[in-house]
Amino acid sequence: MLVTCGSHVALRTQHSDTLLAFGMRGDPTMYEHYWQQVGEKTTVVIRGWQHMSYFSDVSNICWFLEPELAEEIARVHRVVGNAVTEGRHIIVGTGSSQLFLAALFALSPRDGPEPVSVVSQAPFYSSYPSMTDCLKSGLYKWAGDAQSYSKEGPYIELVTSPNNPDGNVRRSVVNRSEGTLVHDLAYYWPQYTPISSPADHELMLFTVSKSTGHAGMRIGWALVKDQEVARRMIKFIELNTIGVSKDSQLRAAKVLKAVSDSSEHGGTWEGVESFFKFSYRVMAERWKLLREAVNSSRIFSLPEFPPAHCNFLNRVFEPQPAFAWLKCERDIDDCESFLRGHKILARGGKHFGVSPKYVRVSMLDRDNNFNLFVKRLSTIHL
Ligand code: PMP
Repeated sequence: MLVTCGSHVALRTQHSDTLLAFGMRGDPTMYEHYWQQVGEKTTVVIRGWQHMSYFSDVSNICWFLEPELAEEIARVHRVVGNAVTEGRHIIVGTGSSQLFLAALFALSPRDGPEPVSVVSQAPFYSSYPSMTDCLKSGLYKWAGDAQSYSKEGPYIELVTSPNNPDGNVRRSVVNRSEGTLVHDLAYYWPQYTPISSPADHELMLFTVSKSTGHAGMRIGWALVKDQEVARRMIKFIELNTIGVSKDSQLRAAKVLKAVSDSSEHGGTWEGVESFFKFSYRVMAERWKLLREAVNSSRIFSLPEFPPAHCNFLNRVFEPQPAFAWLKCERDIDDCESFLRGHKILARGGKHFGVSPKYVRVSMLDRDNNFNLFVKRLSTIHL
């Protein structure tokens, strides 16, 4: 049964011969296996009388941010070395999705004659256009591919690095003085890409969804340099949801603590592999299997990535993104329909602002589904 909800399509399937929902959602269920091994160390008990207030820390500009979570966010970035947190305001959000909207609200000029243009280099994350234009805001408006953007005046550019859907490391492309940048760094973690230096931008977005796999917790955070921008983002969250679930924040703190503890122990941590060693290893295995299947089919191709040194894992490796950006070669013009005919559901290139010869496939599904996907892919021959 296919269930459609906005731009997301979910599939309920009981039989392995029904269509597979690959790539429709980047649901990171691959990580369940690791957290099962961690067991009770990340169990959180919350009693009925606890955390009842709206407020978490009235001395913080982000008054709904739990101090424990703030501490673990700063710590995990210090341990991994993927972002500068010193001199930044940490803002928690209901997923980085809420913070994305908060950033658009905060960065839009108040007194502009028209909504400010929001752009991102194609292929871009398919939710950016729909989230930007969802409420037909008078403040901001989706304006498409940053590479062909030439309008004068203020604009907001979204820089996703590594990029969803194609996994490339990205920089801003418009480069004009009237622009402001939002860096969406959801995938800047060592299981996906070499960590070359701590990211040091004005406004950076992160999320537990893709770092630890806890998408259902709905916790993201922004690291923001400018106090006024931070204040406006906080105001947006106040108007939107009057803060962010404390239960989720405390659970996120516990999970991030486990990630840092396990990383600091290097090899194993009380009998459990360190989180990034596990996730790096699984991603490496999956990319190897996928590349073998793609090479044997001769129908598809995948992007190639230059290897780089990762300061955290202290090794050189090629990026192994959370999504495979698969291209149908030869005369297959609609890769999504072609794969659907072979019982593989993927999201076509047009959702990401490019040709339908491309599709995006999630690399973060459970083992069974991933293996079935690779098996089906490898048996497709023309
Ligand atoms: N940014 C990017 C680039 C993403 O891929 C996603 C998740 N698909 C998000 C943001 C949203 O993350 P969250 O679950 O934290 O709202």
